[in-house]
This record gives sequence, structure tokens and C-alpha cells, in this order.
Amino acid sequence: MYPIRCFTCGAPIGDKFEKFKKLVDSGMPVNKAFEELRITRYCCRRMLLTHVEYIDDIVELDMLYMKKKYKR
Ligand SMILES: [Zn+2]
Repeated sequence: MYPIRCFTCGAPIGDKFEKFKKLVDSGMPVNKAFEELRITRYCCRRMLLTHVEYIDDIVELDMLYMKKKYKR
């Protein structure tokens, strides 16, 4: 379930999760999706980026980063 408001500033973001997901899934870059939905504050952006649905992508990126780090 999506949080209705941003934990930090209290801006309503509950209605933006579905739209954000649709835009990103359609291939739009994340920063463009934020502009499209008029989400400007980074506390609100964090709410969308760190949602549980994206945790697999975050883990994958972290694994790639770690691999690169230990090659040096
Ligand atoms: Zn916020």
C-alpha cells in the first residue's frame, strides 16, 4: 500500500504512485516523470523512489556498484 502523504513535508502523493509507475514503465526517465507529475522536493521524490516495488531494482544497482568497487 502506498503512503498517502510524504513523511517529511506532508504533501499529498498517494495519487501519484500509479501515474509515476505507468510513466516509468513506459520508458520515461525517472527525472522526466517527476517533472511531469510536478514532484519537485527531494523528500517527496524519495517516497516514490524508495517504495517497496522498486527495491529489486535498487538491490540490482547496488550489486553492480559493489562488483565494480571490488574490481579495483
Ligand atoms: Zn515531501
